Amino acid sequence: MKAEYHRQLCRESAGEFFAPEALEAVIAANTGQDAILRGFFGHPEFHFDESRFAEGWAYVESQRGVIRRALQNGAPLEGAWAAFGRLLHAVQDFYAHSNYVRLWAAHYGEADLPPAESFDGLNEHLLNHPDLRSGNVYYPLELLTFFERTRDWATPRLPADSHARMNLDYPARGPLFWYAMEGARQRSAHELQSLLAGMDEAARAWFSGKGR
Ligand SMILES: [Zn+2]
Repeated sequence: MKAEYHRQLCRESAGEFFAPEALEAVIAANTGQDAILRGFFGHPEFHFDESRFAEGWAYVESQRGVIRRALQNGAPLEGAWAAFGRLLHAVQDFYAHSNYVRLWAAHYGEADLPPAESFDGLNEHLLNHPDLRSGNVYYPLELLTFFERTRDWATPRLPADSHARMNLDYPARGPLFWYAMEGARQRSAHELQSLLAGMDEAARAWFSGKGR
């Protein structure tokens, strides 16, 4: 997803819980995952690319572990916030890069899609669907789709299972983008709630940055 939508999703799903300083740290780590050299190349698990779902979920779990360990050891908060930002980036990209939304939409006619608010982003059946796929990143052509000037030329030249052809990263990708946003919002809120469920009152205050 484009950075502005990652930012919006972080604010909407975790903005109330975190102190402003903490939220900024979460957002910085989240959007940092798309930094071209640090996170974009060679890390499909950061973005649920290339249908590597098991690796993607293992990466999410590893970031949950960073947060839990930081809590136990009283490590600096910044590390826990950054891990949460990276975790949110991955789960948000899941809905933009996989065909989860399309599998859901396949139950309806294109003209009969229910409103995005009724989208179910946590459907176990769809999460484990045998046809669940995500886009492959085909270099070097895929790089040209990152730039507006070359995007329209490069996109139709890439295979149907490419990231360029499958992504729901921004509104111009079509109306299903808003369903990807809704799924990402639900999953982000769910990730925060499940983390907090494993914490006592003091740990929650610590993690939020409000107890400083
Ligand atoms: Zn990404």
